[in-house]
Amino acid sequence: MYNLGKKNKSIKYFVMLAIMPLIAIISMFSYALFHIQKDVDFVHHEMVGLDVITQIEDVVFNIQKLRGLTCIKSPNNGSAESIEFLKETIYKDLTILKQKLFYVKDKSSLRYELLDHIESIDKSSLEYANFDYLSKVIYDFMIFSYRISYQCKLILDPELYSYILVTNIVGYLPELIEYNGQIRAIASSAQSELITEDKKQNIRVQIDKIEERLGIIRYNMSLLNDYVNDKKIKIAYEKMLKAQENILNMADSHFLNAKKISFEADKINSLTTRNIELIIDLYHENSKLLNALLEKRYDHSNKLILYIVIAEFLSILFIIFINLLFYNKNKKFVEKIEKLTITDAMTSLYNRRYFDLIFDKLLKSQKRTEQTLVFIILDIDCFKQYNDTYGHQAGDEALKAVAKCLNSSLKREGDLAFRLGGEEFGILCTGLDDSSAFDFANSIRKRVEEEKIEHKNNLASQYVTISMGLVVVEPEFVNSVNDIYRYADEALYKAKENGRNQVGVYYFCNG
Ligand code: GH3
Ligand code: MG
Ligand code: MG
Repeated sequence: MYNLGKKNKSIKYFVMLAIMPLIAIISMFSYALFHIQKDVDFVHHEMVGLDVITQIEDVVFNIQKLRGLTCIKSPNNGSAESIEFLKETIYKDLTILKQKLFYVKDKSSLRYELLDHIESIDKSSLEYANFDYLSKVIYDFMIFSYRISYQCKLILDPELYSYILVTNIVGYLPELIEYNGQIRAIASSAQSELITEDKKQNIRVQIDKIEERLGIIRYNMSLLNDYVNDKKIKIAYEKMLKAQENILNMADSHFLNAKKISFEADKINSLTTRNIELIIDLYHENSKLLNALLEKRYDHSNKLILYIVIAEFLSILFIIFINLLFYNKNKKFVEKIEKLTITDAMTSLYNRRYFDLIFDKLLKSQKRTEQTLVFIILDIDCFKQYNDTYGHQAGDEALKAVAKCLNSSLKREGDLAFRLGGEEFGILCTGLDDSSAFDFANSIRKRVEEEKIEHKNNLASQYVTISMGLVVVEPEFVNSVNDIYRYADEALYKAKENGRNQVGVYYFCNG
């Protein structure tokens, strides 16, 4: 009863205590999650871009092949079949490319421009395609793949190995392949004739560009090997160098320094193509490696997100647990202190402080329920003599024994017993009419006497007895607890006067 109304306050206090570290933990983890999620999105975007670029390059490599074959003036049956097969493959790859483009997050018009470009390559345009047209298509595709590398932030990747791989995939290797493709086309178109000076000059230009690109690719591959130890890419690189050397040697000895081309155009074409395939293999190894590294980072970041979410959840649980623990300990401690402040140390009954606190409250609550309020004052008879006869120590023990009697007499919830001071006690209870209140008081009086604590100098009995003052209040007729106290005191005085060891009653009607 005494801590009524304090529960909500302490819960508020608990929530306030827990909320600060919770806010701190949640904001810290949210900050970390936000940044990791950004990284996950970034890498995912790169992977989508890489997929599209690889698809574009596959189309480009096949158009380059087609361009080489269409340059042969009188192709054999095998070459004609290859042309048809290549066209079919190119259309299939273009359809796949269109689907893959769908996943590119695009704020600019790049996706639509690329779609337009794909649409412009219809069947008939490939049917009658000549060298210049196909070269233009290839060039446009290479520019698109370069733009996509920016759009999907591939080229902006902060890791050096990614940057190297991206520049290889988007720039140096496709360019190298294209220059070799140009040589293939020129050589295929020359057929068995003497190669013209113009064409020779063109081949020289391509060779210069190849040498230049090879220098950069060499540097890139040595840098890359310092970062990633990938056997496949090393083997592919070695094969590419050999293939490139073959093409350059062939160009040098058969086209630039020979008086007459000694090979058939189909053979020149297929020989060059075989070597170009090895350069394309290096391209694919580059893109596979980049994709694998991005996937690893993507998985790693996703795992990190999962770990952070678990850690956040556990931290929140831990904070709540610790706060609950402290809250409960604190609550018990506060309850104990509160109890001590309202308890009489000797008798363990409620003390005068609590009586003063509760009496007025009880009167007010009884006014609302319209039930009677019963107040009984108890005083030990001739207690001075008891002390004088048996000593102060024994007096204390007698006080405790009387208190025990009172306590065990209270049966109903809400009945309260107090030590009001010295050898004076009080009882508050509710809802009893005059006669039940009297019986209740009298039963307590009898019970004390029946304890048979010897008191030979008691004027009323040979045992310790109590006199009582009883007042039964209809709350609506009384306004002050002081009045009730006075009435009970008067009744007690009457009991003492009438010979002690009895219940004095205060009657409102006859005063
Ligand atoms: P009456 O029957 O008229 O009440 O007589 P009384 O002797 O009980 O009344 P009085 O008020 O003269 O004496 C009360 C005595 O109670 C005085 C004091 O020595 C004793 N007393 C008060 N508090 C304590 C206490 O804590 N321990 C002990 N041993 N005695 C106490
Ligand atoms: Mg007294
Ligand atoms: Mg007394």
